[in-house]
Amino acid sequence: MVNSAEIGVIGGSGFYSLLDDAEERVLTTPYGPPSDVVTVGRIGSRSVAFIPRHGRDHRFPPHDIPYRANLWALRSLGVRQVLAPSAVGSLRAEHGPGTIVIPDQIVDRTSGRVQTYYDKGGAVHVSFADPYCPSGRAVAVASARSGGWETVDGGALVVIEGPRFSTRAESRWFASNGWTIVGMTGFPEAVLARELALCYTTLSLVTDHDAGVETGEGVTHEEVLEFFAQNVARMRTLVSDAVQALPAERTCPCGSTLDGLKLPIELP
Ligand SMILES: [Zn+2]
Repeated sequence: MVNSAEIGVIGGSGFYSLLDDAEERVLTTPYGPPSDVVTVGRIGSRSVAFIPRHGRDHRFPPHDIPYRANLWALRSLGVRQVLAPSAVGSLRAEHGPGTIVIPDQIVDRTSGRVQTYYDKGGAVHVSFADPYCPSGRAVAVASARSGGWETVDGGALVVIEGPRFSTRAESRWFASNGWTIVGMTGFPEAVLARELALCYTTLSLVTDHDAGVETGEGVTHEEVLEFFAQNVARMRTLVSDAVQALPAERTCPCGSTLDGLKLPIELP
């Protein structure tokens, strides 16, 4: 039995079968319950907690996911490194479906989502110039390449509010800025992880080309789901490999994010 976890995975459904000795935890946080029960178990020698980002029955649309509760719940279990697989659209013709992108930048195009734990009791300004963990990114890139994926090391993930997809004009505008992929859940997840001094790495699976890249009908939800379902087993293997390759001790800057800052709340 595993009582705590060192690594967190926030991902789509289909990941439960990754975990050995899996045990379900019903948790609550000062921000309400997480998206679902948290499954705690092992992958190889590593202790892992898994949260299905949208809930097991996919009841939370991207704008309604309890992002703060999810990351708080993971930290309260002892998690310090988080892997976040997700489905994205590609803004580049050369990065087609089946490509794994490990972005190194993020662009926030969401609106109205709570994006901080420190909204009361004094300002806390965390550094976010490099929003992703450098160690986690290196592990994710190496794991994807050794798994035979077409892999892109770096690039900017644009996070849109959704739930609708982009218009062609928006999509062309994103691409013309040099941005790489577009999704709906990468923010505020990334900044909330940073605010808790967690390592956070996104593994983005391209499921389609965004509206501005192709002249066809544009992306449909069915296409995304079908493609993701076809690739879920491979994604599970990738996440499993990356979990086992994460460093046992953190040497990246993520853990010292809050050093010297006066926090208005006590972290778990
Ligand atoms: Zn880190």
